[in-house]
Amino acid sequence: MQIPSPIQQVSYNGTTLSIKRDDLIDPFISGNKWRKLKYILQAATAKKKNHLVTFGGAYSNHLLATAAAAAKHQLKATAFVRGEEVSNEMLALCKIFGMQLRFIDRESYRNKPELFKRYFANDEDAYFIDEGGASEEATIGCAEIISELTGPFDYIFCAAGTGTTAVGLLKGINQLNLNTQLHVIPVLKGGDFIREEIARYEQDLDKLHLHTDYHFGGYAKTTPELISFVKDFSSKTGILADPIYTGKMFYAINDLIAKKQVSKDARILAVHTGGLFGILGKLAEFEKIA
Ligand SMILES: *Cc1c(COP(=O)(O)O)cnc(C)c1O
Repeated sequence: MQIPSPIQQVSYNGTTLSIKRDDLIDPFISGNKWRKLKYILQAATAKKKNHLVTFGGAYSNHLLATAAAAAKHQLKATAFVRGEEVSNEMLALCKIFGMQLRFIDRESYRNKPELFKRYFANDEDAYFIDEGGASEEATIGCAEIISELTGPFDYIFCAAGTGTTAVGLLKGINQLNLNTQLHVIPVLKGGDFIREEIARYEQDLDKLHLHTDYHFGGYAKTTPELISFVKDFSSKTGILADPIYTGKMFYAINDLIAKKQVSKDARILAVHTGGLFGILGKLAEFEKIA
């Protein structure tokens, strides 16, 4: 485990970029999922809960992180997995770490507290962790990314799914009163909802900037252009990105600089939020671009 995570400078397309390597914290409890679980696990332990129950899709980085974290702390783990029963590399790793999987139809999956109640109402040991780890505790863990920084940055970039990581970064920036703008790349279509999600936890949104045009069709959707970019970026920097989260973020940074919406001379920090096993679900797309 590597905390604080290192900050590495890379040069790409004539721009120097600093990257907060949260992907190096732990291979399985990776990136922002480690940050989010840190205080969730503390809360579970304080309540003497020894069974983590959580939720995710079939390629969820959060499920793998929870499975590995549970194993590390000798806790049980159960995941409700959205959709019909499938097998893939990610779920296989979850099972190796001892996680129990329950596949749940998409309709029932929507109401997570209800599912938890239905299966675990009588289980004193069970501890509810929301999809992706979204919670107040998670935002506190993610804010620590900012307290680890050793120098000033004009812009910090991150990818967003639920927006919890972005909340933490914004909280950290506001608490330390940094002169830094937070640029968020939603990976889902219609990413404007992220602003409302963030506002649930943090009132001061002055330093928040959303770029909603880099979803490439929606969550976990890709295009040949995105895949080619990820390959180019990884092959020229030695830093692996996935096409679901960080690939879209690095694409956006590169594109905003090319369009001169971001100065190439700015001090830019990109948060590598980890989750690289997600790339296993997209290998066929890389094969296609040859
Ligand atoms: C889960 C995940 C995100 C999204 O984080 P949110 O806090 O839900 O916005 C970003 N990057 C990676 C690699 C992830 O696994």
